[in-house]
Amino acid sequence: MPIIDKYEPQTIFGENEAANIEAPRVLIAPNRYVQGQGVLVNLGRYLEVVPSNHPAILISERGRKELGEIINESLNARGITPTFEIFNGECSLSEIERITNKLAALGEIDSLVAVGGGKCVDAGKSVAYRLKLPSIICPSLASNDAPCSALSVLYTEEGVSEGAEFFPWSPALVIVDTGIVAKAPVRYLVSGMGDAMATWYEADTCFRNSKARNTVGARPTLAARAIGELCANTLFEYGVSSVESVSRSINDEALERVVEANTLLSGIGFESGGLAGAHAVAQSYTVIPQIQANYLHGEMVAMGLLVQLSLEERQLECEKVATFFSQVGLPVNLLQLGLEVEIEQALDGVVRAALDSSIIGNEPVELNHSILMDACLYAHNIGLKIAKNQGDTAFKNLH
Ligand SMILES: [Zn+2]
Repeated sequence: MPIIDKYEPQTIFGENEAANIEAPRVLIAPNRYVQGQGVLVNLGRYLEVVPSNHPAILISERGRKELGEIINESLNARGITPTFEIFNGECSLSEIERITNKLAALGEIDSLVAVGGGKCVDAGKSVAYRLKLPSIICPSLASNDAPCSALSVLYTEEGVSEGAEFFPWSPALVIVDTGIVAKAPVRYLVSGMGDAMATWYEADTCFRNSKARNTVGARPTLAARAIGELCANTLFEYGVSSVESVSRSINDEALERVVEANTLLSGIGFESGGLAGAHAVAQSYTVIPQIQANYLHGEMVAMGLLVQLSLEERQLECEKVATFFSQVGLPVNLLQLGLEVEIEQALDGVVRAALDSSIIGNEPVELNHSILMDACLYAHNIGLKIAKNQGDTAFKNLH
């Protein structure tokens, strides 16, 4: 196992107290972002810009069956024979070590291409960092904003969130084939909208709170804030019709825009704009086994965002967002996350975990157990009302 230097961007980009220099504004982004129908066919071409002639492809068993041939053909046409490595499904330290050791033994690998969902993508970035290789990310889903960022969210082998790992370089290439994304079950695109919608509200909160810091410990730029706002506006305008497009496996302009919002705008927006209450609460829902086992990250973020808006006492905005979530098919109350009885007991662990998370400190409000518990319950009640108004059907349709 190669020695890992733990990279702490906050010590580089944060304030320099010794020299009395305040935290600067820092933007983080991938080197190249490519999005379009069928673009995975060009993988071999794109690898020329890295450059890479000996890529390892990290992909699930199922992904290899579905996409292995396209990848092989594209690379073979450039005289490249890829090494495939099967991802076992969890972005845990033990899985990252297993893959790292295996690829290190091969010796000649010069890039790591991760093809799959958020956990495969994050595991790929962690492996690439350990092997000091550029990472190339080909998301098969638009369910999360992992592809563009220079960090990975780690989980235990049981799938409970276990913090994040940061890297000194962003992906060299992000290649989003919207033809592939359009064929995935609609629930994934919808989940990505939950994650992406929170980007704007979290970035805006961080921007307005001078004490808040983005994921590298710096202040957000105007660009990151504007990207976050564009992300939310794109979803409000095209979210509902993109659900229709994916339900019919059609790749149209609405889908292209929402995929860009979920992947590029949300990716740069959260990393450079900063996270806050929505993600602190969302990550904490994974302490409830039945939620962790049955719900996607973006679905938990949707619920977390309603809590953030309640915490910030923005009731009208909370209702607006909950109405949108309900229309596209995201959960807006705890019943929809399968919590029917003893809600406060279940939330106790969530509230404790959220208060322990550093990102909740970006919220410019007083925080303690009872304030956060009240915000969770308030958000739940708004969600109950909105779901009732919407006929409670949209979310059920996806399950
Ligand atoms: Zn997220």
